[in-house]
Amino acid sequence: MKFDICNLIPEISNGFYFKCKMCGRCCKGKDEGYVFLFKDDIKKISNFLNISLEKFLENYVEVIESTFRLFNPKLLKYKNKIFILKALVLKQNEETGVCIFLDNNNKCQIYEYRPHQCKTWPTWYNNLVKLEHFKNSKNKCIGFNINEFDIDEEEKEKYFISKEKIYQTIKEEMEIEVEYIKRMKKYNQDFKKVFPYLKNVNYSFKIKYYNTNKK
Ligand code: SF4
Ligand code: SF4
Repeated sequence: MKFDICNLIPEISNGFYFKCKMCGRCCKGKDEGYVFLFKDDIKKISNFLNISLEKFLENYVEVIESTFRLFNPKLLKYKNKIFILKALVLKQNEETGVCIFLDNNNKCQIYEYRPHQCKTWPTWYNNLVKLEHFKNSKNKCIGFNINEFDIDEEEKEKYFISKEKIYQTIKEEMEIEVEYIKRMKKYNQDFKKVFPYLKNVNYSFKIKYYNTNKK
């Protein structure tokens, strides 16, 4: 696959094995940050829960202000590559940072329908192009502790993330983010226009957390 958007760190540049052990570690803790909701995440999860968009927004979503850093200038012609924008995120416990969808057994209650951001872990751009971030992720997430010599052929295929898959996921992540930034700028951060399926929701979006990291 021709792909020149990023250089992967050598440790994983030929792909790597990963098996989520469903420990729930990455779904809680203030330092894990927020789960952003992009594209059709909101529609997909509210459908699964069989509740209206209004109810979903009211019960599970909050608005924060966040810094978006574009790592590839080729993708966007704006001069400024850092954007401070509002974002829709999943609610979490204010003190512990536990995601609203994590149950007492550390299981995600919407696993099959979890947001794109959760689904694409650990193939996030930041994780795979900076050694320091990769090491940090490896230390925190036991999903990386998988030895190819301890698993059978079927598992090898299932748990191997190929170079092509990594590039594909990173490319998708970039496209989603760029599209979001473009639409937020175009529609003056009006979520009802940015996400057309929210056009008729009877809900007012109020920002809850302001960005403290604007550099
Ligand atoms: S920390 Fe790693 S192993 Fe645990 S739930 Fe998250 S992705 Fe899976
Ligand atoms: S939506 Fe599910 S996978 Fe994502 S952070 Fe919440 S509990 Fe974890």
